[in-house]
Amino acid sequence: MSRRAGIRTGFLMAAGLLLATSPLATSLLAQGTAPAAGGARPVQAQTAQSQPTQVQPAQVQQAQPAQIQANQSAQTSPAAPRPTRFVVVLDAAHGGDDSGAQLDNAVAEKTVTLALSVQLRSLLAARGFAVVTTRESNVSIDSDARAQVANHVPAAACISLHASMIGSGVHVFVSSLGPTTPTRFLAWKTAQSAYVTRSLRLASTVNSALQHSSDSGSGAIPVLLARTSLAGVDSMACPAVAVEVAPIRDTDRTITTAVTDTGYQTQIAQALAAALLEWRTELLGDGPGSGGAVRQP
Ligand SMILES: [Zn+2]
Repeated sequence: MSRRAGIRTGFLMAAGLLLATSPLATSLLAQGTAPAAGGARPVQAQTAQSQPTQVQPAQVQQAQPAQIQANQSAQTSPAAPRPTRFVVVLDAAHGGDDSGAQLDNAVAEKTVTLALSVQLRSLLAARGFAVVTTRESNVSIDSDARAQVANHVPAAACISLHASMIGSGVHVFVSSLGPTTPTRFLAWKTAQSAYVTRSLRLASTVNSALQHSSDSGSGAIPVLLARTSLAGVDSMACPAVAVEVAPIRDTDRTITTAVTDTGYQTQIAQALAAALLEWRTELLGDGPGSGGAVRQP
């Protein structure tokens, strides 16, 4: 399909630059994530009973199911909801041979995404979250395997982390798949469609937290909210957003805060942690017991 076919950018407000040509959107589109009529492959759906705190890529690069069973919390039927722990999946994009974009100070995107993931994981763990990461080191992991991590949990939220030199501030992407009514089994390539409405709400929560992050004394972070085709995220059966960190630029496009600025990264990680706290409160009603059952939102 055309380069922009999967991009819809009418979503919510944007204090930053509109990025129809974001490298995230472009690279993900290049991976051909359009819904495909792939052959049916058997699926062993994963349900909520086991929650590893960390999943090694070797454990998840196995089956590539064509369908997955819907997360119970996505189903509209209120009958006997299965208790589900509140688990957040952090997906540090790229890794290994896939360096991602080349950022300022000759740092690779894969390095920044992992640093953000590690920092955010630590902040969330301190707040009692169960956290699962798609990678903890510089290893390659494909988009199906990333989705499989999120779907195995299953996750109450997934944050896929990217970084870019294009634009200014933080770009929050939601899948461009149209919403569908949740069914018991979801097509692997488009599983996110059953969750996209909640992903939009998660993106709003993330946006709000980023907008308020300047309250801590740092400068405001421009935020762009947009929708695009997202390899990996499109197959996730949970609320999921991609967060792409770009430098902060002034009005003549000069970089004032680099992507590699550790203070900037910390501000973003703290804002994302605050967003996930808010998200947990929305779903569970209250904070500290991270082992509670997820309500039907
Ligand atoms: Zn990326």
